[in-house]
Amino acid sequence: MTIYLKPHKEESVLRFHPWVFSGAVARIDGNPSEGEVVSVVASDGTALGAGHYQIGSIAVRLLTFSPNEKIDAAFFRRRIESAYNMRKALGLIRKDNDTYRLVHGEGDMLPGLIIDVYGDTAVMQAHSVGMHLIRRELAEIVKDVVVEVSNVYYKSEGTLPYKAPLEERDDGYLIGNEGQSVGCENGLKFNIDWLRGQKTGFFVDQRDNRSLLERYSRDRNVLNMFCYTGGFSVYALRGGALSVHSVDSSAKAIELTERNVNLNFGECERHKAFAEDAFRFLDNMQQAYDLIILDPPAFAKHRGAIRNALQGYRRLNQKALEKIAPHSILFTFSCSQVVDKDMFRLAVFSAAAAAKRQVRILHQLTQPADHPINIYHPEGEYLKGLVLYVE
Ligand code: SAH
Repeated sequence: MTIYLKPHKEESVLRFHPWVFSGAVARIDGNPSEGEVVSVVASDGTALGAGHYQIGSIAVRLLTFSPNEKIDAAFFRRRIESAYNMRKALGLIRKDNDTYRLVHGEGDMLPGLIIDVYGDTAVMQAHSVGMHLIRRELAEIVKDVVVEVSNVYYKSEGTLPYKAPLEERDDGYLIGNEGQSVGCENGLKFNIDWLRGQKTGFFVDQRDNRSLLERYSRDRNVLNMFCYTGGFSVYALRGGALSVHSVDSSAKAIELTERNVNLNFGECERHKAFAEDAFRFLDNMQQAYDLIILDPPAFAKHRGAIRNALQGYRRLNQKALEKIAPHSILFTFSCSQVVDKDMFRLAVFSAAAAAKRQVRILHQLTQPADHPINIYHPEGEYLKGLVLYVE
């Protein structure tokens, strides 16, 4: 099975970009079915690599740029071992930190595959048909490579292309069954619900940013907007915050936040949670908080939504900046992949100007080391954050 590219369309592949767009394809030899491994060849006949074929705007997700490398179980084992060894070497896998991302798609040269580990359970998410078809092999490899893991849960109903004619796309355990449901992050405990929760059950990507927040929370009155599992709230409480208020529009998220606070601190009078819309909460709030976290869901999921998303970020940040106490700190984030660093910064800049506050940027935040960015795939940088000091 071979995909031949149009003239000059090999350039991005020669720069190791892992996607071949359908518009770059001149012809396809051998009638591959979705998810099959295909070779990619330039218009002059040069072999460029191989990857998973799919019908859609991304026609091939390249797995290797070595035309002679065989894509078999041993190949995936090498890649998963390399991902595990890096995290181990970086000190991310510890008794007091058993919650981490094992595989981050293109960032680990496995486009289409996400795997998060929570203690003895790995939660695997396929974004491509190719990864879906080999899910059982992948699960076996993960269990072999990661000694701590004895259960592998597959959760791809929401991430597989919905048009692909796939059988057996249901979520469920590929290996084992429900293991421990409490994960440990930097010594803090979290109930993790991969069955019903968002994404793989927990937002592992905010770990370093939560640690930074912990350092700044002593003696502050903290407002954690869009709290979901209460990650930032729990760190703020450990950091010595006077009070922490958590807000999320989902009642389930509020319940989860309360359970996580109790898990770490028992009955905790410093914490209160509110099931309410963030914008409405900010409009009505009377209290002047001196540390606010804004971590909304992605406002833009595709390029066409960028304008509205930027307006959303501006409006949200303006509301917070208008009401935040003097001499306070704002942690503000965007996880929209299509909104880049500069656009987000401009939206926050406009919000600060409209709120007429004097603001300095203290930190520029991104995703942690277990969400690496493939240097040839800058699209992989999706999490952006600013920490502001508001005079
Ligand atoms: N900060 C979290 C992740 C946030 S995910 C963490 O560290 O884990 C985004 C959350 O925003 C979801 O829980 C969702 O329920 C909530 N949400 C979405 N729209 C909202 C709105 N308009 N008001 C309040 N919460 C909202």
